[in-house]
Amino acid sequence: MERKVYLDNAATTYIATEVLNEMMPCFSVFYGNPNSIHSFGREAQGLVDRARDRIARAINSNSNEVYFTSGGTESDNWAIKGIAHAYSSKGKHIITSSIEHSAVLGACKALEREGYEITYLPVDKFGLVDLAELIHAIRKDTILISIMAVNNEVGTIQNIKAIGKIAKEYDVIFHTDAVQALSSLRLDVKDMEIDLMSISSHKVYGPKGVGALYIRNGIKIENLIDGGHQERNKRGGTLNVPAIVGFGKAVEMTVRDFALYNKKIKKLRDYFVREVKEKIPYIIINGHPHQKVNNIINISFELIEGEAILMLLDFEGIAVSTGSACTSGALEPSYVLRAMGVDDEVAQGSIRFSLGRSTSKDDIDYTIKKLAEAVGKLRKISPQTKSSVKGE
Ligand SMILES: *Cc1c(COP(=O)(O)O)cnc(C)c1O
Repeated sequence: MERKVYLDNAATTYIATEVLNEMMPCFSVFYGNPNSIHSFGREAQGLVDRARDRIARAINSNSNEVYFTSGGTESDNWAIKGIAHAYSSKGKHIITSSIEHSAVLGACKALEREGYEITYLPVDKFGLVDLAELIHAIRKDTILISIMAVNNEVGTIQNIKAIGKIAKEYDVIFHTDAVQALSSLRLDVKDMEIDLMSISSHKVYGPKGVGALYIRNGIKIENLIDGGHQERNKRGGTLNVPAIVGFGKAVEMTVRDFALYNKKIKKLRDYFVREVKEKIPYIIINGHPHQKVNNIINISFELIEGEAILMLLDFEGIAVSTGSACTSGALEPSYVLRAMGVDDEVAQGSIRFSLGRSTSKDDIDYTIKKLAEAVGKLRKISPQTKSSVKGE
């Protein structure tokens, strides 16, 4: 019997049963359009309101500051382009980091083509933005700081509260991509002085294709999607009620079970790292030594290619990911690891293991065994391997 182990929870998660159970009736019973004023519409609107309240409670915002979107990518695009366009008379300078998700970097690149100026802050070897450098980058015409809460490749947690404080002090709007943070950090938009925050459902055991943007009351923003009067005239399109209901439940559960899963995952993570260090030589653990989330482990295996490890593990039913993107046949090292100063050749040998609620100790044991075999096999045939490493 083939064994399946899913260690790619930072890419997406399964839908929790409780979430699915709440979604099901929305497809066939409560199928009204929340915009309709009859009873079917009102019923659907009630479900959407409850989901919005649950999310607001989880992040300590008001319900009318939560706007539903199609996911993290749309939320990031809306936040960055919407603020840029609404505040262009104040200035056209935006500060972000060099390790943001492609949704943020892509939105910034689009704005550059419109004449905006973007500062991409460097990070240190742990993946942290330097606060003094952030302050130094702020100018009179800076309108937005967009810095992610948790990096999706290495798991480093930024000093979000301190960044929020700096942004406020210099009167600059602060957006954070908190998609990877939602399952691992207690997010409080008031305490952290966040003006806009992107979150997504499918990274926290909810359905795909739905997310939210928190927009602090009083912040001006241009629409990204024009249309009907949905979402207080800010985001057109008939609401995806089943997905929104699932998202609301998923977020509520995340907060409810926060301590339980974070403790469980931390224990498995520590065990995994200990075992890998013991069983496999010539490795580098990437990311911050302690200011990081529990579920993401990024390891470089020297002398071999991450893609090759991924394929051998996939053959054994184990799902992991590499940071590197395969562009036109040429392997590009991860831009995140590169920004952290990891040598290109080492970065090529990197694998991200992301644990989840359902990960078991058996899964970890099986993975370690197959990983050690795969790495050993690849190093034996690697032209980079010196005979001393091969054990010859
Ligand atoms: C997954 C992810 C996104 C994109 O969210 P989608 O809902 O998949 O569009 C954005 N930022 C980060 C950090 C992510 O991990």
